Amino acid sequence: MRWIRITFGLLVASLAATSGASILATVLPWPTEAEKVGLNGPFPVPEGPGGPLAGLVVYLSAGHGWLLHRRHHDGPPIAWGRQRGRRFGMVEDDWTAAYVADYLAPALEAEGAVVIALRERDRNPVAAISDDADISCFAEQIAARVEDPLAHEEGYLRLEPNGGAMWWLEVPYDGHWYLYSRWVDDPEHDPQAIYTVITPGEVREEVVDQTVHGGHYWPLGDYCLFGGDIVEVRLNGSGGGMLSADAVRLGGGSFHIVPEFDGKLREHTQFEVAMPHQVDALGAAQSVVEYECGNPVSDMRMRPRWASWASPEGEDAVYLSIHTNASPRGRADGLTVFAGIDRTPPTPAYPDSLRIADLMEQHIHAKVRRHDKAYRTRGARLGNYSEISPVHNELPGALLELGFHTDRREAARLQSHRFKVDATEGIVAALQVWWEERPGEMEPEPDPEMPDEAPP
Ligand SMILES: [Zn+2]
Repeated sequence: MRWIRITFGLLVASLAATSGASILATVLPWPTEAEKVGLNGPFPVPEGPGGPLAGLVVYLSAGHGWLLHRRHHDGPPIAWGRQRGRRFGMVEDDWTAAYVADYLAPALEAEGAVVIALRERDRNPVAAISDDADISCFAEQIAARVEDPLAHEEGYLRLEPNGGAMWWLEVPYDGHWYLYSRWVDDPEHDPQAIYTVITPGEVREEVVDQTVHGGHYWPLGDYCLFGGDIVEVRLNGSGGGMLSADAVRLGGGSFHIVPEFDGKLREHTQFEVAMPHQVDALGAAQSVVEYECGNPVSDMRMRPRWASWASPEGEDAVYLSIHTNASPRGRADGLTVFAGIDRTPPTPAYPDSLRIADLMEQHIHAKVRRHDKAYRTRGARLGNYSEISPVHNELPGALLELGFHTDRREAARLQSHRFKVDATEGIVAALQVWWEERPGEMEPEPDPEMPDEAPP
């Protein structure tokens, strides 16, 4: 294809983080004429991945993570730590992130869904980033350099429909890496913009809709790469609108913070930290991060608030929240699935949430029970939880308490590969049933007046 081997020296500069997210900026020389070949579009739009969940966006929230704890959730900071303790070999905060990254998200993607993870899936403590303002980005047919607070470094390049952009990233070291792109949306932007990712091993194309989802990073897949490899990312249009060339990012990076209460530096991978500490790396409007009065939004409220902001009106999307359960007293085990309601003000569950919760409960229980007859279900219930509340979350969905980490036997179950595979199959099956039975998604009946085939 259009891949050209690039071999030149690299200069890697460390960039001081301004807002807590730690990144490495990769600075590469200006491309040669040969490397710019084929940059101008428009290009034919490649076919999507297909699959039974194609067209569905799943906002996937792995519960908890390291957090700056505040008095009454939004008051002054009082502690830095995880949200759950270690019980029988596991910590819920870590279990949910690993389960989402290693099992659930890849399974949903394999069925054709787009997964937007609310906690970083990439475990690398560094990230390589290339912005439109960097020398590691090159663009043709630039209509304007646009300042916008939703862009990385507050600006992006607006390209003519026949334009193109390319970014280079140097892989920091051998490993498993996730790649992301970011743009600013506009009704005049291309609804079928094409990102082409060129690594030494493969070429992949991803089609994105630049009329929506501006201001946050969008997944372009995961890759096994060697340190020093160059990843080239190209953006071209389908001819259907202008293009927004902003930034690309390889890797998750780290979050660091020096809390006022003790002045000590804390540093964790983005993979480990809770949602309020994801938003600088992920991208978000300021209205998501703070209330109008300036108070910070809590972890439980930030998750639905961010997803509701990121998901455009009319998007086919669901929100799934992954947790393990704790019994405050006495022995308890089994699966519980919640559809969200609220009491302030009293608000019923979305009909789709009720259906999704029912399907999740049936299918997860059935899939796990095939190999594990002792797995119990406590049923599908209504839950007054901020994360899935119809007051705070505009998306239908469910909160899954997959088992009790406070029970010795169930904690062992939760940590077994067999359980994680089976529970994942149940979640995927439940979403497939819901997605297939939705009204309006039926194949259109052929019009009997119309001939079956167009004339030659
Ligand atoms: Zn939990």
